[in-house]
Amino acid sequence: MKYRKLIAPYLISNGRKFRLAQIRPDDGARQELKKRIDELMAGSVARLSELQEKLYAQNTWGMLIIFQAMDAAGKDSTIKHVLSGVNPQGCEVFSFKQPSAEELNHDFLWRAAQRLPERGRIGIFNRSYYEETLVVRVHRELLDKQKLPDGLTGPGIWQERFEDIRSFERYLTRNGISLLKIFLHVSKDEQQRRFLKRLDKPEKNWKFSTADLEERKFWKDYMDAYEEMIRHTATPHAPWLVVPADHKWFAQLVVAAAIIEKLDSLKLSFPRMTAEQKDQLKKARTRLA
Ligand code: ATP
Ligand code: MG
Repeated sequence: MKYRKLIAPYLISNGRKFRLAQIRPDDGARQELKKRIDELMAGSVARLSELQEKLYAQNTWGMLIIFQAMDAAGKDSTIKHVLSGVNPQGCEVFSFKQPSAEELNHDFLWRAAQRLPERGRIGIFNRSYYEETLVVRVHRELLDKQKLPDGLTGPGIWQERFEDIRSFERYLTRNGISLLKIFLHVSKDEQQRRFLKRLDKPEKNWKFSTADLEERKFWKDYMDAYEEMIRHTATPHAPWLVVPADHKWFAQLVVAAAIIEKLDSLKLSFPRMTAEQKDQLKKARTRLA
């Protein structure tokens, strides 16, 4: 499986000319892939597990994977499936909800900074500081709750946030935190189908929320905000992966492939033993014999 070729159309390393219309949410329904999906996913999950073990052992790089999406796009199930083979000790998932009173007393990157992965670990952000350019932009009244001083919330604030996020991500990569940002791009029609399923199936009822239904009214505003966000924050060191998400199996395969490619690019290896350490291992063997 050529991972690089699979992800190439969806990996945005320079956002300047990006348009969301470039990528169809229902792209990817390729029968030849679908037929082999179980085998392909099993292979990818195993490969990811190997790479994660090296990441952990080498203990120099950390990896931050950010997931952003509209409701019902499949963030939770993608995280669950793609990382199913990864050692839980080396991986931490954190979900960002509406900010608490304490969080609102700080600058907007504060809470994310506290959840960054250690070296050797994979950190998953289920939503992130990017909400600050999405939901907060679509619902401006949320900005008023942020207690920013007068004069700092003018129309230029979104461009400033993009600039601050770009700098923050540059800083992270310079410190050995590798970044991959994933937007699961689902269509409004597919979201409707998934919401209906949540209503139809008793075991899915708990996932349904009327608030999510309300947000559908703002679909166009959200899409504009996503496009702007990607245009301003997709960079070579912190690219966006815009994943067609109407077919869940395809989205999961693309996400797995992208994480594998990213980890592969770090050229990870198990730590080399020094002559002295090798000698100690030899001695340990004789003591065990
Ligand atoms: P699920 O519904 O699958 O459990 P979710 O990520 O949608 O997962 P919810 O608790 O439903 O979780 O929603 C979290 C909410 O918090 C979202 O509506 C999101 O927009 C909001 N949120 C996250 N970060 C911020 C932020 N910085 N400012 C305001 N709202 C935010
Ligand atoms: Mg939700």
